[in-house]
Amino acid sequence: MKEESIESLGEFGVIDRIASRARCLNKTSLVGIGDDCAVIACDGSTRRKVVTTDLLLEGIHFDLTYCPLRHLGYKAVAVNLSDVAAMNVRPQQITVSIGVSAKFSLKSIDELYEGIYAACERYGVDLVGGDTTSSLTGLTISITAIGDEESDRLSLRSGAKENDILCVSGDLGSAYMGLQLLEREKRVLKQSGSQTPDFGNYRYILQRQLRPEPRIDVVDFLREVDVVPTSMIDISDGLSSEVLHICKASGVGCRLYEEKIPIHEEAKRLAGELNINPIVAALNGGEDYELLFTIRQSDYEKFQSKVGPEIYAVGYITNAQKGTRLLTTGGDEAELKAQGWKMEVNV
Ligand code: ADP
Ligand code: MG
Repeated sequence: MKEESIESLGEFGVIDRIASRARCLNKTSLVGIGDDCAVIACDGSTRRKVVTTDLLLEGIHFDLTYCPLRHLGYKAVAVNLSDVAAMNVRPQQITVSIGVSAKFSLKSIDELYEGIYAACERYGVDLVGGDTTSSLTGLTISITAIGDEESDRLSLRSGAKENDILCVSGDLGSAYMGLQLLEREKRVLKQSGSQTPDFGNYRYILQRQLRPEPRIDVVDFLREVDVVPTSMIDISDGLSSEVLHICKASGVGCRLYEEKIPIHEEAKRLAGELNINPIVAALNGGEDYELLFTIRQSDYEKFQSKVGPEIYAVGYITNAQKGTRLLTTGGDEAELKAQGWKMEVNV
């Protein structure tokens, strides 16, 4: 038998291995490893704190040749707030820790924090702490985000039930296509030595890659229409992977309709140019930071009754025996596969 390694286990396998030893000693630790945030009780209160943390490394998660520091700061905050939104909670505080190498100037730190503060302002979040250290290998950013909500408004990954409707909050695959465009222009610049990249008519997908927005507006809308999703997750690794996370955590199966997956016209256009199937970009691309959630059928009408962000119904939940399948436009059924990020890309 092949010996187990980080590579053979993959990211999720390594996390499962870590989680298998976790024992929570404190009654206040309500949800531990395995959801978008941990959930913590405050004694004697029906309110809950949620907390999440993310680590971004230069050369792995971002490339400073095409990612301006201001955008990077904004994105680093946005992806953390997205995990809080994925619990159906409004974030309130963040802490930011940075490791900086000698090549960084004071001006570049200022630029990074311009983006961090811009995101804080946009989403009404306070920067309340962090840590600063030197680094031998480029820039490292770690952010922790905290939110606070009534316990009966929280959505975990584990609550999806048979016949619930599977919804997404926006188009998918755009962030991945934006990255393909940036990579292409980086190659062209290297070859030609030219200074000005040609991004053509692709503003939308570029912005989706460089400056994603956490869907806090969707959390606000769900409150307005008085709907609590039975389960929720944010789409950081691609639709397939996130649907499978919900199904595994909830002990259910699903049917996803290929033709209902929202894909932006720009993503389709570039996919055509680069010979990429846009559905594959939506299923496996990642970094869209839309919300994926399930709601009871009876709650679906509430969305229709009020003007708000567009919500797309992309499938439904079945019992576990029916498996997790994609119904293709051609009428076939395909097993959903979690592509996610492979460990060799991640570490
Ligand atoms: P997300 O994409 O929502 O940020 P991840 O896939 O990164 O979620 O992580 C899944 C779960 O595993 C989360 O609950 C996260 O807190 C936990 N987790 C990830 N890495 C570790 C680790 N090294 N130690 C403990 N928990 C971890
Ligand atoms: Mg998440």
